[in-house]
Amino acid sequence: MPSSSNNFRVLVLGGTTEASALCRDLEQTPSISTTLSLAGVTKQPHLPTLSVRIGGFGGVDGLSTWLKTHGISALIDATHPFAATMSQHAATACGTTQTPLLRLERPDWQEMPSDRWFHAANLKEAASLLANSPKWRTAPQRIFLTTGRKELAPFKIAPQHHYLIRSIDAPDPASLPPNATILLDRGPFDVNSEAKLMQDYGITLLVSKNSGGSATYPKLEAARLLRIPVLMIDRPVACPHIPTVETAQQAMAWLQAHQAASTRRKV
Ligand code: NAP
Repeated sequence: MPSSSNNFRVLVLGGTTEASALCRDLEQTPSISTTLSLAGVTKQPHLPTLSVRIGGFGGVDGLSTWLKTHGISALIDATHPFAATMSQHAATACGTTQTPLLRLERPDWQEMPSDRWFHAANLKEAASLLANSPKWRTAPQRIFLTTGRKELAPFKIAPQHHYLIRSIDAPDPASLPPNATILLDRGPFDVNSEAKLMQDYGITLLVSKNSGGSATYPKLEAARLLRIPVLMIDRPVACPHIPTVETAQQAMAWLQAHQAASTRRKV
């Protein structure tokens, strides 16, 4: 249970830079008692001075119980745009427990006139396009695969291509397509270093999720500069009817409005 004596309690589902920014604002707001929840995938996460819990809730039922037993007044879903299961669970649990829910999600990247993007609805479809589409089936590519070290296995169905995979921690060897080069490196990366990397490895195709944000955008700028096409994995379909904002500042305004309304109801 958060230690503050106030009774407006907020749960932030995190794992993103937006969640961290919101937590920095909430650290300065003692009238709101906040708990940050992390899935536990990052080995050494940056932790705020707020209450933090780590690990899954045990599905929708576990989350609903957690919201009730901790007297949560509002939930901010600031998980990654591709963390669709957690967002779905939050929507269902908040519906059941009548907890106000706000989605905090950075805008997606937009294709620019000099970009050449192809689209896939999900990882599986991206891998299937690389394996079977007339464009790529018989034309081996040198692919910069930036989907994340836990999301490589689907690409085993397209072994005719070479894959450059960069990650902080080494991927599981069993998940790798046969023709892969692993580069262990940690960002930030700028457009010049991304362009040099793509040139050094003779990259002919970039595969990326449409994560949005500035941290990993330089790879797209480099692809634009070098006229390298991009196979873009579009975001999962968002839960309908959930109010959504793009910045921590807007989330703070929403929280403060809910806090004021809840105070008025109690007076
Ligand atoms: P996911 O597929 O939507 O969620 C899988 C399960 O992980 C959930 O059912 C939940 O377990 C648990 N979980 C996820 N986020 C949680 C949180 N903030 N607090 C507590 N439990 C959480 O999620 P994912 O794609 O594996 O992402 C996991 C975490 O990494 C998220 O916090 C996300 O923001 C972050 N992240 C994801 C990506 C990405 O590309 N997917 C990229 C960067 C960061 P229970 O059902 O047991 O509650």
